[in-house]
Amino acid sequence: MKAVDPILRPRTSRLVECAGRGQIRIYVDWQVLVEAEAKSRVARALDEANLKHSVEVPDVLALVEEERAHMQAKRRKKRESEQMDWTSFHDLEDIERFEEWLNSTAGNLVQMATVARTLEGREVRLVRITDPTTPGPKKKIWIEGGIHAREWISPAVTTYLMHQVAVSPEWRDILKVTEWYFVPVANPDGYAYSFSSPRARLWRKNRSQNGPSARCKGVDLNRNWNLKWGVGASGNPCSETFKGKEPFSEPETVGLGRAMQSVRDIDVFITFHSFGQTVLYPWGWTRDPPANVKQLSRLARKFNEGVKAASGGRTEYEIGGSGPLYGLASGASDDWAYGAMQVPFSYTIELPDTGSHGFLLPESEVSRVVFETSSGMHCMIGFLTNIGPCARHAGNRSKSVGFRGFRG
Ligand SMILES: [Zn+2]
Repeated sequence: MKAVDPILRPRTSRLVECAGRGQIRIYVDWQVLVEAEAKSRVARALDEANLKHSVEVPDVLALVEEERAHMQAKRRKKRESEQMDWTSFHDLEDIERFEEWLNSTAGNLVQMATVARTLEGREVRLVRITDPTTPGPKKKIWIEGGIHAREWISPAVTTYLMHQVAVSPEWRDILKVTEWYFVPVANPDGYAYSFSSPRARLWRKNRSQNGPSARCKGVDLNRNWNLKWGVGASGNPCSETFKGKEPFSEPETVGLGRAMQSVRDIDVFITFHSFGQTVLYPWGWTRDPPANVKQLSRLARKFNEGVKAASGGRTEYEIGGSGPLYGLASGASDDWAYGAMQVPFSYTIELPDTGSHGFLLPESEVSRVVFETSSGMHCMIGFLTNIGPCARHAGNRSKSVGFRGFRG
């Protein structure tokens, strides 16, 4: 989740006309996570304020336990085959083993690098996929997964897309003209921690030690990038959206930022999060639209088109600026990619669902979501490269989707 404190987020909103000020967004209903002991107190306060309320998930911890039981059963079965699948969630070890497997099977296409070492000694890995037999210049696409620990569907989508791009015939023509950079797990310490116990399942930040006597651990890595740092983020180490003691205070963001700087001229940056089913473009730190908002929105619609087609119309994404749609927040990777690296197409994609399970998306949904998302990406990148079913019509071929007149 990008912009809203995770225990409190808007579920639905609508735009209304406001005299003399154009449209404003009204949040119609909110979803709140409360401790069991606080339940009756919260209900009373809402009654007093005359606000309607109902319990959507009576026991979040029970859902976590259910998920763990399911994973353990699957794990026992999987041990025998040692293969990656997208019918369940995978811990960091599984993901790293999969990266190594991909590197050894599709070795001519894959290169791996470590871009950072975390506080707990884990690697932040970058996987580059490109076809060395085809000449450039190629479109550079950067995909970031797992910057928020508990959003387990994000590394699932990232690893699936990585697999598709490397081995699927459907991607072969696109791969000839593109160069991919995948970060399956941008926050490995946090991700590993979220697998460690039911209580840790909803952990969001990294595991940073906030000073020798700090009571609370972790920095929100998606508030730590150096662009308008501090807006809509917390200075309290105990907050879920703690921005860190300074911009780029964390090894993960420093390493990722440096790697992006050395790759340079990135055309598309996407960071996968959950949940909400939204495609968000910059800015997060202001409600002002970015310079190329029309192009950003058009390419986002291509993603949605691909998803919609693959899901038979069942899944649709809302598209908009992250500031206007989710409230102001700065220090996010998509704003930095757009503003500091001048990546013309920069997005945060909030994966399904829209809130009924939220961060605890059932494992039975994983295969559907990864397939739909990959189809959305295929349409989006197909449009950008003019290849495949989402290519622009032959008559429009000269029309550039590139980005001109960058400001700021
Ligand atoms: Zn997130």
